[in-house]
Amino acid sequence: METESLWVEERLRMVKEQIEQRGIRDQRVLQAMREVPRHLFVPEEEQPYAYEDCPLPIGFGQTISQPYMVAIMTALLELKGDEKVLEVGTGSGYQAAILSRIVREVHTIERHPVLAQRAEERLRTLGYSNVKVYTGDGSLGLPDKAPFQGIVVTAAAPKVPAPLLQQLALNAYLVIPVGGPAGQELMRLQKTSQGVEQEELFPVAFVPLRGKEGWKDSQWFPR
Ligand code: SAM
Repeated sequence: METESLWVEERLRMVKEQIEQRGIRDQRVLQAMREVPRHLFVPEEEQPYAYEDCPLPIGFGQTISQPYMVAIMTALLELKGDEKVLEVGTGSGYQAAILSRIVREVHTIERHPVLAQRAEERLRTLGYSNVKVYTGDGSLGLPDKAPFQGIVVTAAAPKVPAPLLQQLALNAYLVIPVGGPAGQELMRLQKTSQGVEQEELFPVAFVPLRGKEGWKDSQWFPR
C-alpha cells in the first residue's frame, strides 16, 4: 500500500479507537481529526508514533498534545462554524489546524519564536489559510482581535488569566488547564449575562503557561 494511504488508515483508526470510543460525538471535530495529517506536525523521528495515544516531543521541551486531548478540548468549545477563536500555545500548529477546519478564523499565539515560525510555515504550506500565528505572551490574549467566540489554552496556568476572560464573547467558552506540576484540572468557563460559570472537568498534565499571567520558572520547579 502507498505510504499516504497507510497514514490515512492510521488516522482513521486513531479517530475510531481513541476519540469516538471515548465518547466524542461532535461530527465536526471527528471529521477534522480524520482530515488533518498529524504526522506532518511532528519531527521526522516521531512520525512513526504520530497516531499513537500520547503526546509527543516537538523540541524546546514542548509537546504536541495527545490526540484525545485535542479532540475533547475542541469539542468543549461547542463550536458551530462561524466563530473567531483564539488558541494560546501554538506549539506544532496541530490544534490550530483542527480548529481551522471547524471555524471561520483562528488566531494562535506562541511565546517561543522558533516554534511559532515553524508552525506558521507548516500551516501555510499545508494550506490552512484561515489561521494567523503570532509570537508573544498569550497569557495576555490578543486584545486587538477580541472578542473571541472560543478560547483554548494548551498550557497549564496558575489561575485563569483575567485578560482571557475579558476577551471572551458572551456565551462563549474558555477551556484551560489550571494547576501546577503537582496536579492540574481541565476547566471550562462560560461568560453569561449573569457572570462567569465555571466547571472543573478532570485531571490533566500540561507543560506550564509562562508569561505575565503564567508560571515563573522558580514557581514551577520549587526548590
Ligand atoms: N497546541 C499545541 C499543538 O497542537 O502542538 C501544543 C501546545 S504545547 C502543549 C504548549 C505550548 O504553549 C508550548 O509550545 C509553549 O511554548 C506554549 N506557551 C507557554 N506559555 C505561553 C505563553 N505565555 N504564550 C504563548 N505560548 C505559550
